[in-house]
Amino acid sequence: MQVISNGYYPQIRHVEYYIVYLYLMMPLNDKFGRQFKTLRVSLLSACNLGCVYCTMGSEEEVIIDKKPQTPASVFLNHIARLHAQLDLQTIRFTGGEPLLYRELPQIVAGVKALGIPNIKLTTNAFLLDRIAPALKAAGLQGVNVSLDAMDEASFFRMTRRHQLSRTLKGIETALACGLQVKINSVMMKGKNDDQVLPLLEYAFERNIPIRFLEIMSMGHLFGHGQEYLFSEEEILDVIGTRYNFTKQPRRPSSTANYWQTDEGKVFGIIANDTEPFCQDCNRLRLDAEGNIYGCLSNSHAIALSGNDDEHELKNKLQQAMSQKQELHFTGSEMSMMHIGG
Ligand code: SAM
Repeated sequence: MQVISNGYYPQIRHVEYYIVYLYLMMPLNDKFGRQFKTLRVSLLSACNLGCVYCTMGSEEEVIIDKKPQTPASVFLNHIARLHAQLDLQTIRFTGGEPLLYRELPQIVAGVKALGIPNIKLTTNAFLLDRIAPALKAAGLQGVNVSLDAMDEASFFRMTRRHQLSRTLKGIETALACGLQVKINSVMMKGKNDDQVLPLLEYAFERNIPIRFLEIMSMGHLFGHGQEYLFSEEEILDVIGTRYNFTKQPRRPSSTANYWQTDEGKVFGIIANDTEPFCQDCNRLRLDAEGNIYGCLSNSHAIALSGNDDEHELKNKLQQAMSQKQELHFTGSEMSMMHIGG
């Protein structure tokens, strides 16, 4: 006690504070040195389509407006605090179907006000026609539209909904109001693998970047997604029947590999299964209940609280990062309808 009262104790405290300060100032990297600059935010776990990879087909899974939606102010509080730690460069809103989220323009404007430079959205575009101008005005830059078929029967087989024309109209409106548009097409063997060329032609004619996705074993497909795998190699074989193409160098942290045809048209493939891209993944995920996830392969939720101090938040981020793996998506029971891809 004598020593402490002589001023020794305050010095020890000083060292402790210094260690905490150093910890707080350390950049947040995972054990492979990756930094996380992209946050995907799932705004709600409901959708207006019943895509066969997300849902088993019961209408309960595809319900609109049953659960109260998380207020934009709650999301924005989480995003601001994560941004302060991670220096986020991109927010991508997803869901469920993010166009069903009632405060979407407000939350886009809120993220813009935080100074996060890239604001994007992944959507089925069913409702995009009516809201695209408001989203553009709020600061949205781009939309990835999920489109898995170019004829009505295949569209229905994939989404359990009619009116492919609504999605196509959404795409046209988004382009017309100056949003960047990309198309994502999940390929399932025996379901829509005959749609590769029609989708490619549609995208090429409009100069819309298109990426084909290998199916992931998530949600109800966990453990048996391989049955439906239509691989990168098989997709390339189909495209090779009509085009010659050359592989492009891969961009860092890109989910897709890209090829260019002899005519100068570019297409991509997101080969989750046969050519995984985990090694330079830069994405974290936030769900509508305020949980963060480091990796799609890990369904363990890490709950944020609006009151976490900096130290607690950093610990939670380290936990999320420790979920990340180096190599390969291994599947998860979590549904994409919840976490949003
Ligand atoms: N409702 C929006 C949409 O349709 O784009 C956003 C949510 S949806 C879950 C996000 C993306 O995940 C879509 O591009 C969808 O095609 C993709 N997706 C869903 N389940 C998948 C699976 N099992 N394998 C690969 N992609 C999947």
